[in-house]
Amino acid sequence: MTRLACPNCPNTRGKGQYLCQTCWGRLTPLARRLLSVRDAKAFARLRELHGQIAAHKPLDRIEISR
Ligand SMILES: [Zn+2]
Repeated sequence: MTRLACPNCPNTRGKGQYLCQTCWGRLTPLARRLLSVRDAKAFARLRELHGQIAAHKPLDRIEISR
């Protein structure tokens, strides 16, 4: 199974997952739900997530657009 680096911590994430299990669990339920939608804006939402991680925003404060 392919293991990739989590963008937020030294853990690894699975292929097709944005974060490792620990970090994913720290997002708000709303953020998790929005990030789980795979539509034309999915990549834009992923960029929002990465931008806020890069800005060192706490995971439970990250906000994703609808
Ligand atoms: Zn992580």
